[in-house]
Amino acid sequence: MDGKKLAQQLETELKTQINNLRESRKPSLVVIMVGKDPSSEVYVHHKQEACARVGITSKLLEFAPDVTETTLITTIQALNADSSVDGILLQSPLPSHLNKTKMMSLVDPSKDVDGFNYQNQGLLMQNQPTIFPCTPLGVIELLKAYEIELKGKNVCIVGASNIVGKPLGMMLLNQGSSVDFCHEFTLDLASHTLRADILISAVGHQGLITKAMVKPQAVVIDIGFIKDPRSKKIFGDVDFAQVKTVASYLTPVPGGVGPMTVVMLLKNTFLLYLSHEKN
Ligand code: NAD
Repeated sequence: MDGKKLAQQLETELKTQINNLRESRKPSLVVIMVGKDPSSEVYVHHKQEACARVGITSKLLEFAPDVTETTLITTIQALNADSSVDGILLQSPLPSHLNKTKMMSLVDPSKDVDGFNYQNQGLLMQNQPTIFPCTPLGVIELLKAYEIELKGKNVCIVGASNIVGKPLGMMLLNQGSSVDFCHEFTLDLASHTLRADILISAVGHQGLITKAMVKPQAVVIDIGFIKDPRSKKIFGDVDFAQVKTVASYLTPVPGGVGPMTVVMLLKNTFLLYLSHEKN
């Protein structure tokens, strides 16, 4: 599945919509990054470049890994109050002395471009309109673009974090799939993955999903993103060369879910901008 190509198409559509805006104020995004995680640096770089391509103003606020909680809280509160800011993104991971859930929920729900605030996650849980997290939304858009039926399908999601696996599972449940969540304590992972019509891995463990774990003709989505610090090469969770011989569809890493995540961030920023301009 070519996430890169689809993301480019969606980006072009968005660029046209933003170019056609009559308002002089353009959509704006602020990214907060703490420390220098190598994968985060790649993500943030791609996000900022993409903003520039479509006409979204973006700003990166970088903090040292030992930044205090108070500094971060003050920063988020100031951005919440700043009417020129539409979206606030707190890049994960955060150093362990910072409470990720608490920090994410400080972002005003109307600027929560990643859909991580507990209010927006609660709306998702109740199948109400909300801002959907970018990576899960990108996966859903990719599945839809390839006309993959979701209703009645068995989905296995390996990796159940609050920001990727869980919201994606909830979105698929809301679309009529039966969802099996797996995680680090799951026993006999293959017994779960082999039942899946759609197998999604979001762990960050290179080569975790092997050919023997995939049901023939399954759709396989690889969200994993691992940057080898030495070779600088990027890998996913799935053994691509082997699994492509058994899957009906498979996303590559890079070029699959990653570009879709970025374009969904642009889309969410634009949606928040429209809601701010309306009010
Ligand atoms: P996380 O560390 O918060 O969660 C990982 C999950 O995997 C947990 O639920 C954990 O229990 C589970 N897990 C760990 N080891 C396992 C094992 N051996 N077997 C089964 N489950 C196991 O990570 P996250 O933030 O959800 O990100 C997951 C991966 O997705 C990472 O590689 C991250 O870089 C990548 N990611 C990619 C994108 C993208 O746009 N491509 C976006 C977000 C995250």
